[in-house]
Amino acid sequence: MASRVRASTERSRLQRASRVVVKVGSSLLVEKATGRLHRKWLISLLREIAHMRGRGQQVVLVSSGAIALGRRYLGLRPEQRRLEEQQAAAAAGQVLLAHAYRELLGRHDIKVAQVLLTLEDTESRRRYLNARSTLQTLLDLGVVPVINENDTVATAEIRYGDNDRLGARVAEMVSADVLVLLSDVDGLYDADPSQKPDARLIPEVREITPEIEALAGASATEFGSGGMITKLMAARIALSAGCATVIASGKRLRPLAAIEAGKPSTWFISQGSPLAARKQWIAGTLKPRGQLTIDAGAEKALAAGRSLLPVGVVAVEGRFGRGDAVTVRNAAGRDLARGLVAYDSDEARRIRGCHSEEISELLGYRDRDEMIHRDNLVLLNGGGHEQGT
Ligand code: GLU
Repeated sequence: MASRVRASTERSRLQRASRVVVKVGSSLLVEKATGRLHRKWLISLLREIAHMRGRGQQVVLVSSGAIALGRRYLGLRPEQRRLEEQQAAAAAGQVLLAHAYRELLGRHDIKVAQVLLTLEDTESRRRYLNARSTLQTLLDLGVVPVINENDTVATAEIRYGDNDRLGARVAEMVSADVLVLLSDVDGLYDADPSQKPDARLIPEVREITPEIEALAGASATEFGSGGMITKLMAARIALSAGCATVIASGKRLRPLAAIEAGKPSTWFISQGSPLAARKQWIAGTLKPRGQLTIDAGAEKALAAGRSLLPVGVVAVEGRFGRGDAVTVRNAAGRDLARGLVAYDSDEARRIRGCHSEEISELLGYRDRDEMIHRDNLVLLNGGGHEQGT
């Protein structure tokens, strides 16, 4: 009975998600003995992804495996592990990986696009926003983005090194509802299962307490690569972005169906929604670098949940870069909103009061239509509607 209840909760959690990030570990994708792509497994996973797309869900894949595939392709010997060799392997392997996704998702008439990110792309706000808009556009076009770390340029200091945290940053970036971490472990146990046969899997975590962290530490030694700790760090990032995370084993065919069927997994449940978390971040944690004063028409548009267009901006104060937080005021000086601005202060001054079509003429290039997109805008004092979903 209990397991039936659990299965139905799990099923609905994954089914209800409108946007899901699925992270696939190297150990699943690449056969250890041969260094070849585990095609049968990938075919099975991508059939499930096609099924999710078919029921209206958007999916982003974060795929490892480039280095492992590339090493074999380039004929690197086991001792050839210098940074340059690993980077060369990543460069070669990424082509193989992209090709496989293109071919196998193509069978389901699903288009793919490759996005390679570094830590800097997710830490610098401007690059973060650029990556976010690109991913958003791809998803709107019905594409499945396939993401990996840009290992060919990332050196130790600027590297994630593991795709768990990259997956979590991506989940945060696209405001995903669920992050699925598929690897070779079932989830988080209350003791080291290799030492204690009666170790129990923890099916659900609502808060990552020091006790939970200690459990991850214990299982890390057992699973070798410190895998559970990075998974926990990933879950923490995702939770603070309002995204639930599930750790499950991919060492079976149809791993997503297994999660939905309530097979062993650990769910990290978030309290808020991705949008609420993002808005809170914009409203609370960023220091505004400037101010935009807007006219009455724009004030109305904002209250109705729309974006701020350049035409509604009457004055620009302060020095800010693209992606910085700014305060939005009305002519009477009342703070109405806070948002992440799509143009820097010089550009904003030049295009204020202009129609979006005039932007390219004024700046010599066409960028975003909005001065602040509604997803990047939070109304203060509860004014107006909550925007977007
Ligand atoms: N980005 C690495 C690769 O594609 C893998 C990182 C990881 O396994 O987490 O080979």
